[in-house]
Amino acid sequence: MEIRPLEELRAADDLSLAFNPWGLGGRMRPENAAEFQQRQIADCDLAEGVAAGTRDSFERLRTVFAYGVLCYDVYTMVGDQALLIYEQALRDRFMEWCAGTITFRLPQAPDVSYTVTSYDDVKKRSDRMTRQRAKLVVATHAIEFNGMLHGLRLWARTAGLLRGRRSRAVEDALAKLRNYVAHPSGHHVDTPVGAARTVRDLAELINQLWGQATSDGRLYPAPLHREIAVLSWNGSGRARMEPADALTAPDPTEDQESDEYQHVVVRAIPFIPGSRWNDAHWAEFDTRYETTRFPMEYLWGPGTREEARAWLEQERPEVDSVDFTDRVFLVQDHERLLPPMRPAVAAGLPDDERVGIWHAVRADFPDDAFAHVRGSRDSGAGHARRPGDCPACSAEVLGSGSYNEALRAAAAVLGPIEAVQLPSIRLPLSIFWPDRP
Ligand SMILES: [Zn+2]
Repeated sequence: MEIRPLEELRAADDLSLAFNPWGLGGRMRPENAAEFQQRQIADCDLAEGVAAGTRDSFERLRTVFAYGVLCYDVYTMVGDQALLIYEQALRDRFMEWCAGTITFRLPQAPDVSYTVTSYDDVKKRSDRMTRQRAKLVVATHAIEFNGMLHGLRLWARTAGLLRGRRSRAVEDALAKLRNYVAHPSGHHVDTPVGAARTVRDLAELINQLWGQATSDGRLYPAPLHREIAVLSWNGSGRARMEPADALTAPDPTEDQESDEYQHVVVRAIPFIPGSRWNDAHWAEFDTRYETTRFPMEYLWGPGTREEARAWLEQERPEVDSVDFTDRVFLVQDHERLLPPMRPAVAAGLPDDERVGIWHAVRADFPDDAFAHVRGSRDSGAGHARRPGDCPACSAEVLGSGSYNEALRAAAAVLGPIEAVQLPSIRLPLSIFWPDRP
């Protein structure tokens, strides 16, 4: 190879300078590029308890990332290495979880346990046991486990260490990339943008494995803070959402116009400019269907502004936080497909509204559940129809059939479902869910 002088090694790589906060185009100055790229992953720190081996690998990765400014190829190597650390993190977490003992279940035989002191032990033992058709015992389940990445992923989900439906689809993609990195079949080049995202995703995954959700995370977000809000609308289809505090201020509308407005009090994710969690569907609120993207809880109404203010002063409802991932929805198919419903609301329906076919689906968002059920009507689209993870989208099928069958499938994962009966309220205009009975 050609020997390059130190000065040249220290010089910024032209390709790296082409990436700037506005995408490809203008070139950055080397010192700005160095700072800008490091900032992309500066805040993804690991949680306290993360295993030392995983932590060392991750910190080394962050260190090397900074050198991408000098050598563009570093971004590809960082992306590849991140995928290998993904597997290392699962192995390290597995060793902590098993605490030195793994148990297998054989067909028609008592469970057998083995002592393991390293992941190599786990792998050798699991490989042998898999050939005898034995399964690894994980709490109340027994799973296929041969010690490879596929088994580790199944274990982490079964043990309840990873959560979320959309994050599962990302885990799928990471596993495919990881296998590609381990057995490359061609040439690929990562960009600083791609490498930074992989590092950030990896940090979220490691933290979640060790029990820490990421505040404002993309994959494993911490529960979202909900505040008390007031929704109001008038006969001409105008709607607004305000924080409850705004009711003590003078009415924003003219007096006579204000009389036309109806008000309901809800718990909702507050609108924060620039936040990735703003609910674009807030104005679709409906007590019967899950037509907002994030869970919005009905508290009071409808009534006038004055009545809403009096209720708020009397009751002083508390703020809370919600985990919106892994929600269970029921989708009713009767003459047409209706929007997803919360199981508690479905449980409170009168007999004559329980008709049709019902689907129990787990998803992060109601639109994901709906899109899956709609997609599963077409047998060529590849959506799962039997219980399990859908290979075509980020939904999980829990069950379907009659109303009772679907509700039972929901109760199997949620526990007993307590019926709620809410006054029927919805905002008048709908863009995203216009087809409601
Ligand atoms: Zn699907």
